[in-house]
Amino acid sequence: MSAVAAPPKTGEMQALVLTAPHEFEIRSIPIPRPGANEILARVHAIAICGTDAEIVEGTFKGRWPRAYPFTPGHEWAGEVVDAGEVAKRFGFVPGTRIAGTSHSGCGYCRMCRTGRYNLCFNYGREDLGHRQYGHYTQGAYADYVVHTIKAVFPIPAAMPFDVAALCDTASIALHSVKRPGIEPADVFVAVGSGGIGLLTAMCARALGAARCIVVGGGKRLDRARELGFETVDYHDGDPVARVRAMTDDRGADVAVDSAGTKDSVRQAILMVRKGGRVAFTGIPKEPSQIEFQKIVLEELDLYGVRANRNTMEEVMPLIADGRIPAAKLITHHFALRRFGEALRTFNQRIDGALKVIVEP
Ligand SMILES: [Zn+2]
Ligand SMILES: [Zn+2]
Repeated sequence: MSAVAAPPKTGEMQALVLTAPHEFEIRSIPIPRPGANEILARVHAIAICGTDAEIVEGTFKGRWPRAYPFTPGHEWAGEVVDAGEVAKRFGFVPGTRIAGTSHSGCGYCRMCRTGRYNLCFNYGREDLGHRQYGHYTQGAYADYVVHTIKAVFPIPAAMPFDVAALCDTASIALHSVKRPGIEPADVFVAVGSGGIGLLTAMCARALGAARCIVVGGGKRLDRARELGFETVDYHDGDPVARVRAMTDDRGADVAVDSAGTKDSVRQAILMVRKGGRVAFTGIPKEPSQIEFQKIVLEELDLYGVRANRNTMEEVMPLIADGRIPAAKLITHHFALRRFGEALRTFNQRIDGALKVIVEP
């Protein structure tokens, strides 16, 4: 473990800066200053998220980010180097090792007060205290980042920073399986075999699922098999028929779609049994034809999932004791100055890339 980093009060830092869709560079920008309820952290590891890749491409431009220049990055871990007065009183003193998450609600609206701060009624109102780091609020692909203490969580002493950087995405997976719920001995299907898909299967197993089937393609399914999951490769024909055949033609109890394609959302619905539950965590980019007759006549329960809420503290002990073996998803590490290569490796799934870690 390294010594506590000296707090830089002023000066410049290296950061990934998006300047237009598809365009980015590593450049020097001023180190941000924390407000009263904020910390300044030295960033040690950031995991590339599928959303990052889309934000770089400009898929959501105007919303995420609202304008250029912009620094993305929301799956990160690091160490507090400076903190505002209120943050210090809450124990966020220099040297505290933390992991970040993207959403911070205003804290006052009904959604926030009922615990659903990911659905804050004041989304986008920075003047009212709302933040979504790395989406419209400046993010973590930088030497330092400022976060409100509502969006950072102390990590166990033995947890390495690269693993801690996966807590955000793992907490989304946990929220994704908690929405439909897992009953003891359920048959669970993860539709999508990327990092989030494999993590939903890990979380379902940790919560008591008897069988976890991962639907996806390519090398990622090798990783799923190594993790002890059953697999269905969509290249081998209709994945709905395969899942039904694997479940005595009944269908699975629960499916979570993380792929977010027009086919995957439809397939997830068709894969569950009568009375089954389906959650959707991948953000769909196009409309899909859904069979509403099945939803009505088979009394299916459908759940939208927007990122995560209140699951960072829940997922950390399960990662720390190995019940959610998130570390097995880390395939690559790159220095921040090699971000372009890191992103290419992630996007093109080079060497079976799953979670690619960037280190400032
Ligand atoms: Zn993410
Ligand atoms: Zn709110």
